[in-house]
Amino acid sequence: MKDSNCIFCKIANGEIPSTTLYEDKDFRVILDLGPATRGHALLIPKEHYKDLFDLDDETGAKVLLKAKRIASRIKTALGADGFNLVQNNGEAAGQTVFHFHMHLIPRYRDDHAGIHWKPGKTTPEEMEEVKRLIDHQ
Ligand code: 5GP
Ligand code: ZN
Repeated sequence: MKDSNCIFCKIANGEIPSTTLYEDKDFRVILDLGPATRGHALLIPKEHYKDLFDLDDETGAKVLLKAKRIASRIKTALGADGFNLVQNNGEAAGQTVFHFHMHLIPRYRDDHAGIHWKPGKTTPEEMEEVKRLIDHQ
């Protein structure tokens, strides 16, 4: 299914031009317009899924394989020192385009891209409580 109001549906299906690194019948990989680092790309399915939880299992299974292959090409071509795969779901998690996509972000020593979080604190009791809630849902 495509969503006629969705910019990533239009980009993935070629209705809006993009700098495309890879394309097949299911996916398009494009360069991000606001890159975190040089070579930051987006893996976008051609069908509309709003986020990870909306993605069908077959497409979901292909995502990591495609991400691995393209990330490997980007890393070698640009001489990156490391690589982040980032995938945001929901506004609270930083998602701004509500069509599933995986960020492929090459990392360079001292690039200061800032893809990190401040480690918080927990307790053994809280960890047990969290585990119990997840186990018994
Ligand atoms: P999100 O915040 O939803 O995880 O990521 C959305 C990403 O899409 C951002 O990194 C943003 O720079 C990128 N983006 C938004 N609109 C466009 C566009 O029209 N073209 C391209 N190439 N990237 C876009
Ligand atoms: Zn879409």
